[in-house]
Amino acid sequence: MYSDIDEIQSDLRLGKSVVDIVNHYLLRIEQQKHLNAFVEVFEESARTSAHEIDQKIKAGTAGPLAGLVLGIKDNICYKGHQVSASSQILQNFESLYTATCLQRLIDQDAIVIGRLNCDEFAMGSSNEKSFYGPVRNVHNEAYVPGGSSGGSAVAVAAGLCTAALGSDTGGSVRQPASWTDTIGFKPTYGRISRYGLIAYASSFDQIGVFSQSIKDTQTLYEIMAGKDAMDATSSSLEVQEAPITQKSLRFGVIKDYLDHPQLDPEVHAHLVELISRLEQAGHTITYFDFPYLAYVVPVYYVLTTAEASSNLSRFDGVHFGYRSNDAFGTDEVYTKSRSEGFGEEVKRRIITGTFVLSNEQYEAYYAKGQKVRRLLQDHTRHMFEKADCLIMPTTPSTAFKIGEVKDPITMYLQDIYTVHANLTGNPAISLPFAFHTNGLPFGVQLMTDNFNESLLFHASAIVKNSMV
Ligand code: GLN
Repeated sequence: MYSDIDEIQSDLRLGKSVVDIVNHYLLRIEQQKHLNAFVEVFEESARTSAHEIDQKIKAGTAGPLAGLVLGIKDNICYKGHQVSASSQILQNFESLYTATCLQRLIDQDAIVIGRLNCDEFAMGSSNEKSFYGPVRNVHNEAYVPGGSSGGSAVAVAAGLCTAALGSDTGGSVRQPASWTDTIGFKPTYGRISRYGLIAYASSFDQIGVFSQSIKDTQTLYEIMAGKDAMDATSSSLEVQEAPITQKSLRFGVIKDYLDHPQLDPEVHAHLVELISRLEQAGHTITYFDFPYLAYVVPVYYVLTTAEASSNLSRFDGVHFGYRSNDAFGTDEVYTKSRSEGFGEEVKRRIITGTFVLSNEQYEAYYAKGQKVRRLLQDHTRHMFEKADCLIMPTTPSTAFKIGEVKDPITMYLQDIYTVHANLTGNPAISLPFAFHTNGLPFGVQLMTDNFNESLLFHASAIVKNSMV
């Protein structure tokens, strides 16, 4: 099993071909089929690209990602291949273009091996809400891997690809990373183009990376980041690449997050221990009051459902994908196609979003939610005046059993520590941290100021070195 690009490239130097590497992954995917991580394997196009890259290596023209085998979440467009957001409503839909960030990776010779299972339209925290059925956690197959990018997390954890792309609207990269012992990174809002990502909540969505190495995560990030004319919300700020050498960092700890009653005692104890190790290693620790944890999840669900209800209105039985077989007339085509094509959770969110945007409720929910979002952004900015990097749990606990969580609110509360970074736009990462006595892994989360990804990666290396 390969754990990073360096290992693959050293095998290439020893005489292996990129075709060998692709075959290695294809075999593993076949052996681990029961995990249900892949929705579709792009065997033919992956082999064709591998041949081409082998030629480039011979000619000395291969890009820095030669040998990297990538999986993509089933909501990222790749021209000539199907994409469905793991929903019935997009069955048989083929991408008409390639997402900008994916194209940038392909231009550096990454190979796309297939599309990965996820919760329908990236709505969920367990990957149980997919049209293709649940994904299984490789650490215990009776358990969920987290979501919504559960397929991406499991594919990386099980060595079915070198790295994978996911999308993170409220934690969908970091939360499954925490539950599968992988690295999950979400950039600053606007840092990576969203062109070619099927929209869920546009002011929250960001494409992120799963991998086994901080260095690979940073490499992929730097290639993908930067202005894209096709996404007006992509930032034109230069992508900062200069290495950071600062030895001692100012870590910030939000007391309210650490002391939250929902935080598993073992996760709490490990975190307290890590913080004291960082302090012993010469870093400063500052404790903050941030008494908003009770509000982040409700505000997140008011604002994201509002955006989702608007974004998903394009799936109407006419423009894309699924159309009901027994619908007569315009109204029925819309209502029946949508009622049959969307799953229960997606419908719940469209209805909630339509409600919070309605004339009567707008001020009470949507407008108020925006105000709270601003408050959270202001307070977060203030914390970064006193700290370089916030350290906190990624998830309140470890993964649960498939089928165990039935109530949507309990499911939504899995995201209490991850939605913060999406509400405020900050970059954040979940690093593999420890194993619980129940045998399951959990991560630790770091967050830095907006557009300070370099510092986030630097802090990640420091934190990793302080782990036992
Ligand atoms: N679990 C959250 C939700 O269901 C986050 C999803 C995501 O980040 N795409 O909305």
